[in-house]
Amino acid sequence: MTGDFTGRVAFITGAGSGIGRATALAFAAQGAAVAVSGNAEKDVHETARLIEDQGGQALPLLCDVTRSDDVAAAVAATVRQFGRLDFAFNNAGIEQPVAPLHEISDDQWDRIIDINLRGVFYGMKHQIPALLATGGGAIVNTSSGAGVIGIAGQSAYAASKHAVIGLTKAAALDYAAAGVRINAVCPGIIETPMMDRFSGGTEEGRQRVIAQEPVGRMGRPEEIASAVLWLCSDLGAFAVGHALVVDGGQTVGL
Ligand code: NAD
Repeated sequence: MTGDFTGRVAFITGAGSGIGRATALAFAAQGAAVAVSGNAEKDVHETARLIEDQGGQALPLLCDVTRSDDVAAAVAATVRQFGRLDFAFNNAGIEQPVAPLHEISDDQWDRIIDINLRGVFYGMKHQIPALLATGGGAIVNTSSGAGVIGIAGQSAYAASKHAVIGLTKAAALDYAAAGVRINAVCPGIIETPMMDRFSGGTEEGRQRVIAQEPVGRMGRPEEIASAVLWLCSDLGAFAVGHALVVDGGQTVGL
């Protein structure tokens, strides 16, 4: 239990799978109405159905975070449907195939930066006026362990996730006095469709990524969701501009 969010409204990007879906379900389990946004229609509808099956309220929204107009429209639809906005989780992201920097194509670079960084900027840009209209609220942006350390073969991804932390910290200062708390979460290796793609989904690939985890296992998406809810709840009321690493110890000894 991290807080009672009855009567509150949460907006989540990349909510159709993995960490975003688990966080959408967690917000709903604490009583929040949840705007479930993503770029894969079937997936966001499935998350919304899972929320409704557990007795919650959900609004599925097709929204590509690289398009400012999409994000603006999705936030507006949320406020129209539920009357307010209290929390936002800017979580949509993509992985980078392992490759040294000079092998990253210009298009790959653009795509990673567009989704992982520009998407967080557009999210906050359109969510903040709605949060201010509510009288305050909280935003959590998804960075990564790759946002706090360098990882070989991951320069574009690491650049995008380091930048998310810079964006989070500066924005946190812009809005702290207005009652909008902005923080980031930095997950370690979490068992999601992204990690399946990254590891190749084979037992050997799984063991290779698990070897980076001092706890000897991958994290569960729900273990990131609980950190996001804590940051949004009154229990996290004094956390501002923080990058909360939740990684089973992956980055601790580095
Ligand atoms: P995932 O692939 O299950 O989820 C990512 C979601 O983002 C998907 O639902 C996808 O449809 C959505 N998405 C992709 N491009 C989008 C776009 N342009 N507009 C809107 N939505 C888009 O993976 P996940 O592991 O749940 O990843 C969630 C976040 O966590 C990402 O930002 C990722 O970088 C970060 N992360 C994941 C791990 C991990 O080990 N899984 C570790 C650190 C950080």
